[in-house]
Amino acid sequence: MSRVLLDQRRRGTRFVHLPIRSILNSPQQTGMGFWSLNPYVGCEFGCTYCFARFAHRYVVERGETGAGEVVWADDEFERQVFVKREAPDVLALTLKPSRLGGAAIAIGTATDPYQPAERRFLLTRRILERLAQFHGLNVSLVTKSPLVARDLDVLARLAERGRLTVYLSLISMDVPLIRKIEARSPMPQVRLRALEKLVQGGLHAGVMLAPILPGITDGVPQLLALMRAAKAAGAAFVHASPLRLYPAVRSTFLPAVARHFPALRERYERSFDERGRVAETYERALERRVERLKRRTGFGGHERESGPAEPLQWTLPL
Ligand code: SF4
Repeated sequence: MSRVLLDQRRRGTRFVHLPIRSILNSPQQTGMGFWSLNPYVGCEFGCTYCFARFAHRYVVERGETGAGEVVWADDEFERQVFVKREAPDVLALTLKPSRLGGAAIAIGTATDPYQPAERRFLLTRRILERLAQFHGLNVSLVTKSPLVARDLDVLARLAERGRLTVYLSLISMDVPLIRKIEARSPMPQVRLRALEKLVQGGLHAGVMLAPILPGITDGVPQLLALMRAAKAAGAAFVHASPLRLYPAVRSTFLPAVARHFPALRERYERSFDERGRVAETYERALERRVERLKRRTGFGGHERESGPAEPLQWTLPL
Protein backbone atom coordinates (compact mmCIF):
# COMPACT_ATOMS: atom_id res chain seq x y z
CA MET A 1 0.00 0.00 0.00
CA SER A 2 1.55 3.31 -1.00
CA ARG A 3 1.22 6.18 1.43
CA VAL A 4 1.23 9.85 0.60
CA LEU A 5 4.11 11.96 1.82
CA LEU A 6 2.66 15.16 3.29
CA ASP A 7 5.87 16.91 4.25
CA GLN A 8 9.52 16.29 4.93
CA ARG A 9 12.07 18.02 7.12
CA ARG A 10 15.54 18.89 5.96
CA ARG A 11 16.98 16.66 8.66
CA GLY A 12 15.00 13.77 7.24
CA THR A 13 11.78 13.36 9.23
CA ARG A 14 8.91 12.38 6.96
CA PHE A 15 5.24 13.09 7.64
CA VAL A 16 3.10 10.46 6.02
CA HIS A 17 -0.67 10.37 5.60
CA LEU A 18 -2.37 7.56 7.49
CA PRO A 19 -5.96 7.02 6.28
CA ILE A 20 -8.37 6.07 9.06
CA ARG A 21 -11.98 5.03 9.45
CA SER A 22 -12.16 5.55 13.22
CA ILE A 23 -10.21 7.65 15.69
CA LEU A 24 -11.52 6.75 19.13
CA ASN A 25 -10.19 3.55 20.71
CA SER A 26 -12.72 1.97 23.03
CA PRO A 27 -11.88 0.72 26.54
CA GLN A 28 -12.51 -2.81 25.24
CA GLN A 29 -9.92 -2.40 22.48
CA THR A 30 -7.16 -1.14 24.74
CA GLY A 31 -7.97 -2.79 28.05
CA MET A 32 -7.87 0.64 29.70
CA GLY A 33 -10.82 2.12 31.55
CA PHE A 34 -11.26 5.05 29.17
CA TRP A 35 -11.52 5.97 25.51
CA SER A 36 -8.32 7.12 23.84
CA LEU A 37 -7.34 9.10 20.84
CA ASN A 38 -3.99 9.76 19.12
CA PRO A 39 -3.80 12.08 16.09
CA TYR A 40 -0.25 10.96 15.21
CA VAL A 41 1.72 7.71 15.21
CA GLY A 42 5.42 8.23 15.87
CA CYS A 43 6.94 11.19 17.68
CA GLU A 44 9.90 13.43 16.95
CA PHE A 45 10.66 13.96 20.63
CA GLY A 46 12.32 10.55 20.58
CA CYS A 47 12.34 9.58 24.26
CA THR A 48 14.42 6.46 24.74
CA TYR A 49 11.90 5.04 27.23
CA CYS A 50 8.88 5.54 24.97
CA PHE A 51 6.60 2.49 24.85
CA ALA A 52 4.80 3.57 21.66
CA ARG A 53 7.41 2.25 19.23
CA PHE A 54 5.62 -1.06 19.06
CA ALA A 55 2.42 0.56 17.72
CA HIS A 56 4.47 2.50 15.17
CA ARG A 57 6.14 -0.66 13.95
CA TYR A 58 2.75 -2.27 13.53
CA VAL A 59 1.56 0.63 11.35
CA VAL A 60 4.72 0.53 9.23
CA GLU A 61 4.55 -3.19 8.68
CA ARG A 62 0.83 -3.22 8.00
CA GLY A 63 1.38 -0.69 5.24
CA GLU A 64 3.94 -2.75 3.38
CA THR A 65 3.07 -5.26 0.70
CA GLY A 66 4.93 -8.50 0.44
CA ALA A 67 5.97 -10.50 3.48
CA GLY A 68 9.18 -9.54 5.14
CA GLU A 69 10.03 -6.57 2.92
CA VAL A 70 10.14 -3.99 5.62
CA VAL A 71 13.11 -3.54 7.88
CA TRP A 72 11.92 -1.44 10.79
CA ALA A 73 14.60 0.36 12.78
CA ASP A 74 13.96 1.87 16.20
CA ASP A 75 14.62 5.41 14.99
CA GLU A 76 11.83 5.09 12.41
CA PHE A 77 9.56 6.13 15.26
CA GLU A 78 11.08 9.62 15.28
CA ARG A 79 11.85 9.83 11.55
CA GLN A 80 8.54 8.73 10.07
CA VAL A 81 5.50 10.32 11.71
CA PHE A 82 2.09 9.14 10.53
CA VAL A 83 -0.54 11.85 10.36
CA LYS A 84 -4.21 10.96 10.72
CA ARG A 85 -5.24 13.93 8.63
CA GLU A 86 -8.95 13.12 8.66
CA ALA A 87 -9.07 12.63 12.44
CA PRO A 88 -11.12 15.75 13.28
CA ASP A 89 -13.71 15.00 10.56
CA VAL A 90 -13.91 11.32 11.46
CA LEU A 91 -14.39 12.29 15.09
CA ALA A 92 -17.15 14.72 14.18
CA LEU A 93 -18.94 11.98 12.23
CA THR A 94 -18.52 9.19 14.76
CA LEU A 95 -18.58 10.73 18.24
CA LYS A 96 -21.82 10.06 20.07
CA PRO A 97 -21.37 11.13 23.71
CA SER A 98 -24.19 8.83 24.81
CA ARG A 99 -22.13 5.85 23.60
CA LEU A 100 -19.13 6.74 25.75
CA GLY A 101 -20.88 5.28 28.78
CA GLY A 102 -19.64 8.12 30.96
CA ALA A 103 -16.01 7.10 30.44
CA ALA A 104 -13.31 9.72 29.91
CA ILE A 105 -11.49 10.42 26.65
CA ALA A 106 -7.69 10.50 26.98
CA ILE A 107 -5.72 12.29 24.28
CA GLY A 108 -2.07 11.35 23.80
CA THR A 109 -1.92 7.88 25.31
CA ALA A 110 0.50 6.63 22.65
CA THR A 111 2.15 9.69 21.09
CA ASP A 112 2.44 13.32 22.00
CA PRO A 113 -0.54 15.28 20.61
CA TYR A 114 1.54 18.49 20.65
CA GLN A 115 4.68 17.10 19.07
CA PRO A 116 6.27 19.35 16.40
CA ALA A 117 3.99 17.96 13.66
CA GLU A 118 1.05 19.67 15.36
CA ARG A 119 2.38 23.11 14.40
CA ARG A 120 1.96 22.15 10.79
CA PHE A 121 -1.14 19.92 10.85
CA LEU A 122 -3.27 21.36 13.69
CA LEU A 123 -5.04 18.06 14.24
CA THR A 124 -5.11 18.20 18.03
CA ARG A 125 -6.54 21.70 17.97
CA ARG A 126 -9.24 20.74 15.51
CA ILE A 127 -10.08 17.64 17.54
CA LEU A 128 -10.45 19.76 20.68
CA GLU A 129 -12.72 22.13 18.76
CA ARG A 130 -14.95 19.20 17.84
CA LEU A 131 -15.01 17.95 21.43
CA ALA A 132 -15.81 21.42 22.74
CA GLN A 133 -19.07 21.35 20.80
CA PHE A 134 -20.44 18.90 23.36
CA HIS A 135 -21.41 19.37 26.99
CA GLY A 136 -20.46 17.00 29.80
CA LEU A 137 -17.38 15.30 28.33
CA ASN A 138 -14.54 14.23 30.59
CA VAL A 139 -11.30 14.78 28.67
CA SER A 140 -7.65 14.46 29.64
CA LEU A 141 -4.57 15.29 27.66
CA VAL A 142 -0.90 14.53 28.23
CA THR A 143 1.99 16.29 26.53
CA LYS A 144 5.59 17.39 26.91
CA SER A 145 5.14 20.37 24.64
CA PRO A 146 4.59 24.05 25.42
CA LEU A 147 2.56 24.16 22.20
CA VAL A 148 -0.41 23.10 24.32
CA ALA A 149 -0.65 26.71 25.59
CA ARG A 150 -1.43 27.83 22.03
CA ASP A 151 -4.83 26.17 22.44
CA LEU A 152 -5.74 27.71 25.77
CA ASP A 153 -8.87 29.26 24.23
CA VAL A 154 -10.36 25.99 23.06
CA LEU A 155 -9.16 24.09 26.14
CA ALA A 156 -10.91 26.65 28.34
CA ARG A 157 -14.12 26.18 26.32
CA LEU A 158 -13.88 22.43 26.74
CA ALA A 159 -13.30 22.82 30.51
CA GLU A 160 -16.32 25.12 30.81
CA ARG A 161 -18.59 22.56 29.18
CA GLY A 162 -17.30 19.46 30.95
CA ARG A 163 -14.19 18.22 32.74
CA LEU A 164 -10.67 18.70 31.47
CA THR A 165 -7.33 17.69 32.99
CA VAL A 166 -4.02 18.57 31.35
CA TYR A 167 -0.87 16.69 32.28
CA LEU A 168 2.50 18.25 31.46
CA SER A 169 4.86 15.30 31.30
CA LEU A 170 8.25 15.88 32.94
CA ILE A 171 10.73 13.38 34.42
CA SER A 172 13.46 15.70 35.72
CA MET A 173 14.60 19.31 36.02
CA ASP A 174 18.14 18.24 35.09
CA VAL A 175 18.70 19.53 31.54
CA PRO A 176 21.83 17.49 30.65
CA LEU A 177 20.06 14.38 31.92
CA ILE A 178 16.95 15.14 29.87
CA ARG A 179 19.10 15.44 26.76
CA LYS A 180 20.61 12.03 27.33
CA ILE A 181 17.22 10.35 27.66
CA GLU A 182 14.87 12.40 25.47
CA ALA A 183 16.44 13.30 22.14
CA ARG A 184 14.42 16.38 21.19
CA SER A 185 11.90 17.10 23.92
CA PRO A 186 11.25 20.67 25.13
CA MET A 187 13.30 21.88 28.08
CA PRO A 188 11.83 21.49 31.59
CA GLN A 189 11.42 25.21 32.29
CA VAL A 190 9.70 25.71 28.96
CA ARG A 191 7.19 22.99 29.80
CA LEU A 192 6.57 24.51 33.22
CA ARG A 193 6.00 27.96 31.75
CA ALA A 194 3.32 26.42 29.55
CA LEU A 195 1.81 24.77 32.61
CA GLU A 196 1.77 28.12 34.37
CA LYS A 197 -0.12 29.69 31.45
CA LEU A 198 -2.70 26.92 31.53
CA VAL A 199 -3.21 27.28 35.27
CA GLN A 200 -3.45 31.05 35.00
CA GLY A 201 -6.01 30.48 32.28
CA GLY A 202 -8.15 28.61 34.81
CA LEU A 203 -7.42 25.03 33.71
CA HIS A 204 -6.95 22.03 35.96
CA ALA A 205 -3.36 21.13 35.08
CA GLY A 206 -0.45 19.40 36.74
CA VAL A 207 2.65 17.31 36.19
CA MET A 208 2.91 13.73 35.02
CA LEU A 209 6.14 12.62 36.67
CA ALA A 210 6.59 9.48 34.65
CA PRO A 211 8.43 7.39 34.09
CA ILE A 212 10.63 7.64 37.17
CA LEU A 213 13.88 5.92 36.21
CA PRO A 214 15.35 3.78 38.99
CA GLY A 215 18.80 4.94 40.05
CA ILE A 216 18.62 7.89 37.61
CA THR A 217 15.70 10.17 38.52
CA ASP A 218 14.40 8.60 41.72
CA GLY A 219 16.69 10.42 44.18
CA VAL A 220 15.14 12.66 46.81
CA PRO A 221 16.95 15.80 45.58
CA GLN A 222 15.80 15.21 41.99
CA LEU A 223 12.19 14.50 42.91
CA LEU A 224 12.10 17.38 45.35
CA ALA A 225 13.49 19.82 42.78
CA LEU A 226 10.86 18.78 40.27
CA MET A 227 7.97 18.94 42.71
CA ARG A 228 9.04 22.36 43.98
CA ALA A 229 9.30 23.67 40.42
CA ALA A 230 5.89 22.20 39.61
CA LYS A 231 4.41 23.86 42.68
CA ALA A 232 5.97 27.20 41.76
CA ALA A 233 4.38 26.88 38.31
CA GLY A 234 0.98 26.41 39.93
CA ALA A 235 0.54 22.69 39.25
CA ALA A 236 -2.64 21.35 40.84
CA PHE A 237 -1.18 17.85 41.22
CA VAL A 238 1.76 15.59 40.54
CA HIS A 239 1.15 12.05 39.32
CA ALA A 240 4.14 9.74 39.47
CA SER A 241 4.89 6.20 38.37
CA PRO A 242 8.03 4.14 37.72
CA LEU A 243 9.40 2.97 34.41
CA ARG A 244 7.80 -0.02 32.73
CA LEU A 245 10.55 -1.68 30.76
CA TYR A 246 8.32 -3.35 28.19
CA PRO A 247 10.08 -5.65 25.72
CA ALA A 248 9.58 -3.01 22.99
CA VAL A 249 11.31 -0.40 25.17
CA ARG A 250 14.40 -2.44 25.97
CA SER A 251 16.05 -2.04 22.58
CA THR A 252 16.16 1.76 22.84
CA PHE A 253 16.35 2.33 26.57
CA LEU A 254 19.00 -0.21 27.57
CA PRO A 255 21.56 1.13 25.07
CA ALA A 256 20.95 4.63 26.49
CA VAL A 257 21.56 3.29 30.00
CA ALA A 258 24.71 1.52 28.82
CA ARG A 259 25.99 4.69 27.16
CA HIS A 260 25.21 7.21 29.88
CA PHE A 261 24.93 5.14 33.07
CA PRO A 262 27.12 2.08 32.46
CA ALA A 263 27.20 1.16 36.15
CA LEU A 264 23.41 0.65 36.06
CA ARG A 265 23.12 -1.47 32.96
CA GLU A 266 23.39 -4.86 34.58
CA ARG A 267 20.89 -3.89 37.30
CA TYR A 268 18.42 -2.73 34.67
CA GLU A 269 18.81 -5.96 32.73
CA ARG A 270 17.96 -8.14 35.69
CA SER A 271 15.47 -6.03 37.69
CA PHE A 272 12.36 -6.01 35.49
CA ASP A 273 10.09 -8.97 34.91
CA GLU A 274 8.86 -10.14 31.50
CA ARG A 275 5.92 -7.71 31.68
CA GLY A 276 8.37 -4.87 32.24
CA ARG A 277 7.56 -4.32 35.93
CA VAL A 278 10.23 -3.42 38.42
CA ALA A 279 10.49 -5.36 41.70
CA GLU A 280 7.55 -4.74 44.00
CA THR A 281 9.83 -3.83 46.92
CA TYR A 282 11.28 -1.01 44.84
CA GLU A 283 7.86 0.13 43.68
CA ARG A 284 6.53 0.32 47.24
CA ALA A 285 9.59 2.18 48.53
CA LEU A 286 9.34 4.63 45.66
CA GLU A 287 5.65 5.15 46.30
CA ARG A 288 6.34 6.00 49.93
CA ARG A 289 9.10 8.39 48.92
CA VAL A 290 6.88 10.13 46.38
CA GLU A 291 4.01 10.47 48.84
CA ARG A 292 6.28 11.98 51.52
CA LEU A 293 7.72 14.46 49.05
CA LYS A 294 4.28 15.38 47.76
CA ARG A 295 3.17 16.24 51.25
CA ARG A 296 6.38 18.18 51.83
CA THR A 297 5.84 20.26 48.72
CA GLY A 298 2.16 20.91 49.30
CA PHE A 299 0.66 18.38 46.90
CA GLY A 300 -1.22 16.45 49.55
CA GLY A 301 -0.40 12.79 49.06
CA HIS A 302 -2.00 9.75 50.65
CA GLU A 303 -2.38 9.64 54.39
CA ARG A 304 -1.30 6.00 54.37
CA GLU A 305 2.16 6.16 55.83
CA SER A 306 3.13 2.65 56.80
CA GLY A 307 6.35 0.78 56.19
CA PRO A 308 9.92 1.37 57.17
CA ALA A 309 11.67 4.70 56.91
CA GLU A 310 12.56 5.52 53.35
CA PRO A 311 15.96 4.18 52.28
CA LEU A 312 18.44 6.40 50.50
CA GLN A 313 18.38 6.44 46.72
CA TRP A 314 21.20 4.04 46.12
CA THR A 315 19.86 1.53 48.58
CA LEU A 316 16.45 1.36 46.93
CA PRO A 317 16.54 -2.30 45.98
CA LEU A 318 16.49 -2.38 42.22
S1 SF4 B 1 7.00 12.60 24.00
FE1 SF4 B 1 5.78 10.85 24.62
S2 SF4 B 1 5.18 9.89 22.68
FE2 SF4 B 1 6.86 11.29 22.22
S3 SF4 B 1 8.68 9.99 22.29
FE3 SF4 B 1 8.42 10.93 24.32
S4 SF4 B 1 7.26 9.43 25.52
FE4 SF4 B 1 7.03 8.87 23.34
